[in-house]
Amino acid sequence: MLPPRAEVVVDLDAIRHNTALLAARAAESGAATMVVVKADGYGHGALPVARAALDAGATWLGVVSVAEAMSLREAGVRAPLLCWLDVPGTDLRPAVESDVDIGVSTVEGLRAAGPGAAVHLKIDTGLTRNGCPPDLWPELVAEAASSGVQVRAIWSHLACADEPGHPSIDAQAKRFDDAYDIALAAGLRPMRHLANSAATLSRSDLCFDLVRVGIAVYGLNPLPHKEDLVPAMTFRSSVVLTKRLPAGESVSYGQTWTSTVDTTVALVPVGYADGVPRTLSGRMDVLLGGRRRPVVGRVCMDQIVVDCGDDPVRVGDEVVLFGTGADGGPTATEWADTIGTIDYEIVTGMYRPRVTRRYV
Ligand code: PLP
Repeated sequence: MLPPRAEVVVDLDAIRHNTALLAARAAESGAATMVVVKADGYGHGALPVARAALDAGATWLGVVSVAEAMSLREAGVRAPLLCWLDVPGTDLRPAVESDVDIGVSTVEGLRAAGPGAAVHLKIDTGLTRNGCPPDLWPELVAEAASSGVQVRAIWSHLACADEPGHPSIDAQAKRFDDAYDIALAAGLRPMRHLANSAATLSRSDLCFDLVRVGIAVYGLNPLPHKEDLVPAMTFRSSVVLTKRLPAGESVSYGQTWTSTVDTTVALVPVGYADGVPRTLSGRMDVLLGGRRRPVVGRVCMDQIVVDCGDDPVRVGDEVVLFGTGADGGPTATEWADTIGTIDYEIVTGMYRPRVTRRYV
């Protein structure tokens, strides 16, 4: 087998481990677990992640679009499934006929779902994205109660769950309680779901009937304190060329780095087209030969250059761009921290045709 050019390796045991941990935490408060596999399972592959998560104790799956939901159904996934955001006018019938629940924020959305659909009414408690504003909630609830849909749940999403103690969490929880009371008063008996990964791990009182967990399933910890999560994604490549460089030679576009001593550099055939942010130029290491080595000069579209010093590096050697971190190598979280984003964006950004995926 050839060494990889740009390969994401997804550890399904890690997915199972993380799901089991989250499901156990949710179960302590009597909640079931929905694993969020939108955006192709945060870049890890929706279908293999869904199957692994269902194996490990999840009972629900969550996606954004009807298209995402239908591709799971067409692959034979029968588990309860919620999709929650499409453009108005999207034909929801295939989803409804395939027992996919529909997230609804408006009266128009309710009508589009149609009688017989199972809907989850979303109240905007303060994130101010989708979700019904509190002043329109009584009208949405009344319409839902009389329109022939099955109101399976009411739900909302937290803005600051990854900052435990943030006052908005309790403020949103209060609005959620108020919305639930209005639903009860209209004769509905829906489930409730509010918590994402961070809230599931830090606020057992907000787990209600169901939690919707994403990032922690993938092994990335949204909270400031430690949790026993295992990152599931490793991004690998290999050395395709080595060069001995005399002191004083520059590397890559703009010649932003110049060797100060004689050294060996290794060319690795991945770049920003493969998910290595160009803003990591001069600010990243890789794991090569079991050691951290700096990437020097600018990240190109298809190539990066690693300064290996006097290490005995060879063509074909494995290069880990990011992984679990257990071996001392870089992690997706380290990349995110360096360039001022979140690890969600790093792993989701690995969903690209040039990067092959392998499951172990
Ligand atoms: N619920 C909704 C509506 C979401 O959009 C997301 C992800 O962004 C989640 C749950 C899962 O959140 P997390 O990945 O932080 O667990």
